[in-house]
Amino acid sequence: MSEARMDYRQLLVAVDLGDATEHVIRRGVELGRRLGAAVDVANVLEKPPGYLKHTLSREDLSATDSKSRRWSQERLEELKGRYPGLQGAHTAQGPSADEIRRLVKEIPADLLVVGVHERPGMAALFGDRSDELLHRAPCDVLVVKDKALDAPPGSSNPYRHILAGVDPRTDGSTLVVARAVRLAEVYEAKLTLIHVIDHFPVDRSNAMIAPEDQDPLAYEQDQSRRRLQEVAADAGAGDSDIQVIATSTTASREIPEFAKANGIDLIVTGSHGRHGFGRIIGSTADGLRHRSYCDVLVVRIFYDD
Ligand code: AMP
Repeated sequence: MSEARMDYRQLLVAVDLGDATEHVIRRGVELGRRLGAAVDVANVLEKPPGYLKHTLSREDLSATDSKSRRWSQERLEELKGRYPGLQGAHTAQGPSADEIRRLVKEIPADLLVVGVHERPGMAALFGDRSDELLHRAPCDVLVVKDKALDAPPGSSNPYRHILAGVDPRTDGSTLVVARAVRLAEVYEAKLTLIHVIDHFPVDRSNAMIAPEDQDPLAYEQDQSRRRLQEVAADAGAGDSDIQVIATSTTASREIPEFAKANGIDLIVTGSHGRHGFGRIIGSTADGLRHRSYCDVLVVRIFYDD
């Protein structure tokens, strides 16, 4: 893994200029400050609804477009004034996932920061706009929850305990842990690595069948812990807290539960592992980000372009 890939150098914070905007910007600016990275902000204006095309003249439509663009530009300039950490400001027009993807490549940015307002748990059933951004972004994505518990007043450290979900059987696991290590360093956070033995005790792979004289769960936990320790050592996380837990369900259900019970404020996950093959983002990352109350960093493992 090259050094250049370890630190984000250019962040792009995508905002809709709604209520959560400043919360998301604060997260981006704070991360940029801690990493010494540049931070740009972008707002995408979706096309006006189709019915307006039938009710407004072409001139009126174009005037509405320019007015919206000016409004967005002015708001972004105001935000730049309030948050000196913000550098470039971009207003774009078109489908938001397409435009953000274009901007990420053009700037180029290596981390996209997006806000999401949703009710954890419910949203697994419903997609939202941040879903599309996440699926189409050609870089890592930090999903900032508007319900995330903020740091106590007076503290500018939103991430005091970071949890990395790791499947040590997959290729990207070292990259996921390395990202988490770096963030734990810059936020002076505690780092916990977790592997979930999912669908236990059914659906075992041959490699995980315990010898007859051994307890199947203890055997599998032992094997997982050993592999997780190897990944941790490779990624420079030798001294982090390591958790291996078994569940009859999935990692994407268990990790948010663990996070909630242990006061985690940032979960780091890979975009793909065993379940995500052939999709732009895997099912664990998707489930995690919908079910978690805290922010989630999705580390892009397979690039889709
Ligand atoms: P997948 O959904 O299998 O494509 O996995 C996506 C990402 O989720 C992986 O890169 C890991 O970061 C995380 N993950 C997947 N399975 C597990 C697991 N059993 N325990 C902990 N984290 C996992």
